[in-house]
Amino acid sequence: MTSAVDAAVGEAVGSAELRGWQMGMVRRLVRRLARTGRFYSRALSEIDETRLLSFLDMELLPFTYPGDLVSNPGDFLCVPSRDVSRVTTVRTSGTTGKPKRMFFTSSDLERTVDFFSAGMKDIAGSGGTAAIMLSSGAPDSVAHLLKRALAKNGVDAEIIGEGLNFREAAEAVNGVDCLIGIPASLIKLCRVGPHLRPSSVLLTADYVPESVVGGIKKLWGCRVFTHYGMTETGFGCAVQCEEGDSHHIRHSDMLVEIVDPVTGRQMQPGSEGEITVTTFAHEAMPLLRYRTGDISTEVCGMCRCKGPYPKLGRVRGRSVNIICTGERGAIRLDELDEIIYSFDGVLGCKVKSGEDVPVHLFVDAVGSLDRAAFERAVKSMIPAGGKGGRRVVFTYGYDAPFSKSEKRAVERVYAS
Ligand SMILES: [Zn+2]
Repeated sequence: MTSAVDAAVGEAVGSAELRGWQMGMVRRLVRRLARTGRFYSRALSEIDETRLLSFLDMELLPFTYPGDLVSNPGDFLCVPSRDVSRVTTVRTSGTTGKPKRMFFTSSDLERTVDFFSAGMKDIAGSGGTAAIMLSSGAPDSVAHLLKRALAKNGVDAEIIGEGLNFREAAEAVNGVDCLIGIPASLIKLCRVGPHLRPSSVLLTADYVPESVVGGIKKLWGCRVFTHYGMTETGFGCAVQCEEGDSHHIRHSDMLVEIVDPVTGRQMQPGSEGEITVTTFAHEAMPLLRYRTGDISTEVCGMCRCKGPYPKLGRVRGRSVNIICTGERGAIRLDELDEIIYSFDGVLGCKVKSGEDVPVHLFVDAVGSLDRAAFERAVKSMIPAGGKGGRRVVFTYGYDAPFSKSEKRAVERVYAS
């Protein structure tokens, strides 16, 4: 059955060709931004929006970077402040540590609820129960919007996890049909609660290692889906359907490009690059060619579900999350995570790395883990000793905390 996300796009776009329709929306956005919002009225002063005809013409437009939002979030606001119904603060990993603020109108939030409702039809069906282990349950938080979306589908969802440990969380979700949470917490919940029998799991809010998907399918024997989104996209952006591997995009609300992280040029479908979004349907704080820092591919051709529109491939970890491996270069944390979580006995792992210091892994593991095999596998990714090699140090006994929002990240250390 065609993914409900693509069906919703079809309803919004009608029979018009998708890219042509989206470029019309982009032209409208550019006209709006040139009038409202201090940041874009400056950035777009030289742009003739009538030249924006094809998808390739997006390259005529400037990018927006996360740093721009940190500096002056108010300069992006395109509606009177009385129309803002939610302000979300996003922590940033940059050196300044200054948070980003994102504004939403009630209509922006409703569009997100509609997308979540469509996406969750494949994942949680109608009827049944769900447990949302994300963010807080505050009004209009992502967890709250998801709960409302599920209620529209007839699914009874609870927001849980605040202040719980893993044993308590496992008790709280016992008997629940659909579990929603971040990959690092769900894989540990799965391995400490193998008796739980959800029928589906949605992993979101961080990159998802294949080994985590495989580990959960193996122990729980359930369907596992992934979603990609961030606060800047109004929380939702793209989600897997029942039948395919790639992610169906909210094409009726945003235009997604994959660009070369260095040159900024659009990549060919199938080639990896940085996910860049233009949120043309957002009222309060639409973004033009926003550089997300996340890496993926554009997947063209019909999905197995018969969804016709371009999709987002697997989303890889951010390039800032790298581990120095000596003169031979560096590997990304998501590459190392594929090895780490492929061991059934691993519940979690914190990684510290820096220049001229050993790579340090703090491992949360059950007693049955074959430590020698685990360490060999990790070291095969990080050459030790010799010229430029890195020593790898393992400490066991780490207890990865239950988290509803903490993304996987390499902790930076500096040689003393
Ligand atoms: Zn599909």
